[in-house]
Amino acid sequence: MENVRVPLDHRIGEAGAGFTLMLQTLATFRVSVAGASVGLAEAALREALGHATERELFGKPLARLGGVPASLATCWMEIEMARAMTYRAAAAAARDPLAGMHLSSIAKVGATEACGRVVDRAVQVMGRFGLVRGSNIERFYREARPMRIYEGSTEVILDSLAKKLVKDHGAEAPR
Ligand SMILES: Cc1cc2nc3c(=O)[nH]c(=O)nc-3n(C[C@H](O)[C@H](O)[C@H](O)COP(=O)(O)OP(=O)(O)OC[C@H]3O[C@@H](n4cnc5c(N)ncnc54)[C@H](O)[C@@H]3O)c2cc1C
Repeated sequence: MENVRVPLDHRIGEAGAGFTLMLQTLATFRVSVAGASVGLAEAALREALGHATERELFGKPLARLGGVPASLATCWMEIEMARAMTYRAAAAAARDPLAGMHLSSIAKVGATEACGRVVDRAVQVMGRFGLVRGSNIERFYREARPMRIYEGSTEVILDSLAKKLVKDHGAEAPR
């Protein structure tokens, strides 16, 4: 934007401090996207579980066949790991959003990427039923996808995390 005039009483912060405000907002919003990913992944796992326990093949529930049990358990594990990281980042963002920016970023990438994997596995477990237009799982699959792009794409966040890692190398270990 060029030559934009903002009346003084429309300003939401001090002149010249806009970038810091933006970063604080980003740190908080990234945790909210992580939280949304955990919820979405949980809902997808619930759908897959409902299907895999009800559907029987070769005299057994799908949930006990081949690689399906491991797939379901891996989803559960990834959801709980994402949830723990999201709570940690949320607590840090509540204390000081800027100081906890790296944790918000780690939670955002970790939870959204985990959500993508969980929803994909859920569709796989549900077979053709996972592809029905208008079904819950089809909607979850679509809704999970943009989370890895908005509020900072995975690649861009990883790049800034790597810069921090290198910058802090030799100082106290980043936590
Ligand atoms: C549903 C939705 C809601 C959105 N809401 C908002 C909003 O409210 N406010 C807002 O401002 N924006 C919003 N966005 C925009 C969003 O922030 C951008 O789409 C996002 O930052 C990616 O930018 P881009 O689409 O221009 O892709 P590009 O920047 O063109 O990136 C394309 C690809 O290249 C990769 N890439 C880009 N730069 C690098 C790099 N330096 N190193 C490695 N890889 C890189 C990206 O990771 C991505 O995979 C929204 C987007 C979506 C999909």
